[in-house]
Amino acid sequence: MSTMPIRTYPDPVLAQPTIEIQNIDAKIAQLAQVMLETMYQAPGVGLAANQIGIQKKIFVYDKGDGPSVVINPVIVETSGTWTYEEGCLSVPKLHWDIVRPNKVHLQGLDLDGNTLDVEVDEYHGRIFQHETDHLNGVLLIERLSEEQKEETKKELRRMRMAPPATSHDGLHLLFGEE
Ligand code: ZN
Repeated sequence: MSTMPIRTYPDPVLAQPTIEIQNIDAKIAQLAQVMLETMYQAPGVGLAANQIGIQKKIFVYDKGDGPSVVINPVIVETSGTWTYEEGCLSVPKLHWDIVRPNKVHLQGLDLDGNTLDVEVDEYHGRIFQHETDHLNGVLLIERLSEEQKEETKKELRRMRMAPPATSHDGLHLLFGEE
């Protein structure tokens, strides 16, 4: 077992776009393995490479039917809307009902270098959007409505007033101090 620490907001590595992978070699296979072990240990359903500080375009996920690896993902088309409660290992303890497109057409490569060209929706589509966002340097907090941002400020104030316990130090920086 080898895992890596998961970077959390406001670590700047999460806001930087990642770089396309040119050669899917043994090092990339090893990276995918470390990412999967880190994701399962967390536990989470998806993990992008920059969440462990690696600026490469690769994410892993498991929506309940086994591990998958996606390399150089591009979302070429979306349609519809779907609301789903979303959280993120890099923004621990918080969840929001987030509206995003429902259907997603994704192109990329798998770990064997085969072309991926798939259309998915609902939960599967949400994972693809969330993880592709990460690789483009976008965190889910950028997908919140103005109202949700206001609610989150209040929630964070409550968390600040509570005993420190295990709350994450950087959380109060989410939307800045008022
Ligand atoms: Zn995430």
